[in-house]
Amino acid sequence: MPTTRNDIVTPPRRLSFPEDEARLPWLGMLLDAYDIIDQGITLALQREKRKHNRRPACREGCGGCCRTHKDIPLYPLEMTGIYWYVIEKRDRAFRQELAEKLAGHTPSSPCPFLADDACSIYPVRPVACRQFIVFGGPCGEGEDPYHTRRTDVLTPLPDFRDKAFYIMLPFYGITKETEKEAAIRNNIIHARVRNLKTTDWNPLAQRIAESLGEPEKTDGSENSREAQ
Ligand code: SF4
Ligand code: SF4
Repeated sequence: MPTTRNDIVTPPRRLSFPEDEARLPWLGMLLDAYDIIDQGITLALQREKRKHNRRPACREGCGGCCRTHKDIPLYPLEMTGIYWYVIEKRDRAFRQELAEKLAGHTPSSPCPFLADDACSIYPVRPVACRQFIVFGGPCGEGEDPYHTRRTDVLTPLPDFRDKAFYIMLPFYGITKETEKEAAIRNNIIHARVRNLKTTDWNPLAQRIAESLGEPEKTDGSENSREAQ
């Protein structure tokens, strides 16, 4: 979620990995899309504060949703971003620990990227996680407020969501402007969604195992995390 200081909601900065973005054409798309989603969330929070004087209950270390929610939408480009971040931007100790969790993951397990009640892939967490913000008090254990108190769940601004998905469409081979407009209008992109909780994460565990046999990369990525 965006940073909240007193009465100000501060949008996070777009992440920038110039060398990686030059090498991986999809990465700039993903980071641009996440930036737009984050801007939309910031604006929605500012409106909520102005109209109803409500502030989010979500806080760092409050990871009940990541432990218990059964359905966490995840798109293929987002999954590609998670692979990149884990393999190329996190250190060996992190990857070793994560590989064990991924190999043992089942649909009823907590999200495998939850570590010490915080998101260990925060810069590249999916749109669904970025947008899920709750007002009126933290969730109870096992509670999904989308079902128990829908009015306490932030409604994202659709224009920002559509713009973000529009930017990601070339990853799915949709490049012509008319096709892109139709894809957004007809929600075609959403047919590709998966569920993070039921995803088979063994291939990522395998990629991590391979990466552990490769020389360590040093890229200062830990300094590239956005403000939380
Ligand atoms: S959605 Fe609920 S459990 Fe998750 S961070 Fe927000 S208040 Fe905490
Ligand atoms: S990806 Fe991060 S924010 Fe999303 S459910 Fe997992 S730990 Fe929570």
